Amino acid sequence: MALTLRGLTWPAKRGHVAHAHDGCNQKTNTLTIKFFDMKHTFQFISVILAACFLNFTFLPVSVLKAQAMLFEMLNSSSLTLTSDETAKLAQIQSNTLTETIWHVNVNPLSNTLDASNLTTTLPGVSGSQTFTADYVFSRPNGDYYWSGANLSGGQIRIGKTGSDYFGNISIPSLDVYYGIQKISEGRYVLVKYHENILNGAADCGTPPMANGEEDTVVEDRGSCGGNVIRVLFLFTSGAVMTGFDPYVVAPAVINELNASTVASGLSNGDISFALANIGQLNGFVESGVIATDLTNLVGNASAQSSREYSKADIVVLLTANSYFPVVGRAQEISASNDNAYCIAAIPFAATAFTATHEIGHLIGARHQWCAACAAVGCDDNTNHHGFPIGATGFRTIMMQQVCAGGRVGRWSNPDNMFMGAATGDNDNNNASILRSRADNVACFLPEPSLPIYPYFDNWVYLSGPYWVCDGDDSQIYSVSFSPLWFTPPVAYSWGVSGNGISPWIDPGCNTSQCTITGIDNLPDVFYVRATVTDVNRRSGTDVFKIKKVQCLGGGGDDRGIVTSILAHSKNTVYPNPFADRITIKQVEKGSWLSLTDLSGRVISRQHQSADIPEFLWDLEGLGTGLYFLVIENNNSVQRFKICKQ
Ligand SMILES: [Zn+2]
Repeated sequence: MALTLRGLTWPAKRGHVAHAHDGCNQKTNTLTIKFFDMKHTFQFISVILAACFLNFTFLPVSVLKAQAMLFEMLNSSSLTLTSDETAKLAQIQSNTLTETIWHVNVNPLSNTLDASNLTTTLPGVSGSQTFTADYVFSRPNGDYYWSGANLSGGQIRIGKTGSDYFGNISIPSLDVYYGIQKISEGRYVLVKYHENILNGAADCGTPPMANGEEDTVVEDRGSCGGNVIRVLFLFTSGAVMTGFDPYVVAPAVINELNASTVASGLSNGDISFALANIGQLNGFVESGVIATDLTNLVGNASAQSSREYSKADIVVLLTANSYFPVVGRAQEISASNDNAYCIAAIPFAATAFTATHEIGHLIGARHQWCAACAAVGCDDNTNHHGFPIGATGFRTIMMQQVCAGGRVGRWSNPDNMFMGAATGDNDNNNASILRSRADNVACFLPEPSLPIYPYFDNWVYLSGPYWVCDGDDSQIYSVSFSPLWFTPPVAYSWGVSGNGISPWIDPGCNTSQCTITGIDNLPDVFYVRATVTDVNRRSGTDVFKIKKVQCLGGGGDDRGIVTSILAHSKNTVYPNPFADRITIKQVEKGSWLSLTDLSGRVISRQHQSADIPEFLWDLEGLGTGLYFLVIENNNSVQRFKICKQ
């Protein structure tokens, strides 16, 4: 099997004897049994059978070391290019943003990931760069989308569709930006772009609305039974001439939209995006003035009929880079149905979150608030703004580039953390506007009676805990699907993975519910995936990234109970029971303190922006009774049962 061919020996973890193996020998079975909970014998059998059949490895995936570099540099002088490849290369080279091109082989992530980390060297950059997974999605057919970030504000987004790779890497601190471009089937170049692609662009020309003009209402056209926003991508002949492929860029934008909303704490059921269609807008001549082109787009009969045919709620026109430094514009913030159009220059559309940003405007999201950034492009309306993410060097999607570091795939949300920093506050919460408006925008046009574009992932919804206690041995996940798209009876398949890409281990479930066991032997971040396939062979997938955290009592039934195990945790809470105020010792910077009732409903929530040796929480107004006090930070979640007298 593939892993053995490389001849490496895996280090053991937690006392497991872990060796490379090439079949269903005794070692495989031994490892399998250790990996899964001994109480679930029936599952072992199906798991072992699945493993033999699919030739999966059963080693704890966290022990796998990076085996190949993401890019294998090729010697261009020894390559023979076809005339088509030469022409494509010339097209890419003629793009004013292109600086340097290297011929490369792209290695699959299954060979390059080390659990949640991806390390790669880059031409022209000394040393290597390591990125940690932020959002990961993959389908059973091998397609994937992986985005990761590092502490110096760098990020990578890489995807595979069929046999094609797409992606980009940015390291703003070094002023370097790379993109993967296909020149023919299986042949790629790594393109280094001019640093303008990161820093120079005022990437949104949408003017803030006049002071005082509130826009809390999006056109409501009635219910259409879902929160899936369908997006039509049209492109100009000028867009094609840049060398960027609209048929690669459009699905990449859809991936970014879905990745960024899920990573921002919204569920697939709150809001999701589907590709309605892709097509050239024949006869459309770019004027060089983005506002003019946008007006022309909205009034274009061909664009309107393409939209009607594709039942698209939103239209994006991909153009050449002819408006630089402006690279995108939305017709309206909180758009009406007739104005749900935007433009994104194709080199930036799926590389600088430009198309995602413009779609955000159409739904109601705004730039940073003026007081947070006195530069151009800020917005003095009340709510729903972009946000700089602490000192991470990143900013959320709606924040203009002049204000903070690189854009990362997050919508501002005070309840969501990125690298230990909150991604929003009470006044800056674009996630809430996306959630509250999704059903309105999704109903601009009705769903087609049959899918026009075969993209079903948006209609499958996984549910279950996003975090589990280290020490938990089983957790229940369930999956549902939209009857709009799937015709019962449906088949369910499940997978568990340490890196979200490969291998996926079959936990032996074939219904809508699955108990994931063996969590103790999984890495600190792992993935659960569920796929629904119906009688018409329509298939949709949802993936959860799950984090293991330290819980009081080590999980299981003990997780909410204050016992002598308290010494195990860093925080101490006293007195308990308490009268009006409770003291929490050693509150770490970046922690969230939540008070919930016994059913988990949040009563009060506080974010601590500094280390506090002794935090005194005044809970005088609280009724008497039992509550949970939850202390969350980047490393742990602790839950204390407290009693107000
Ligand atoms: Zn904007």
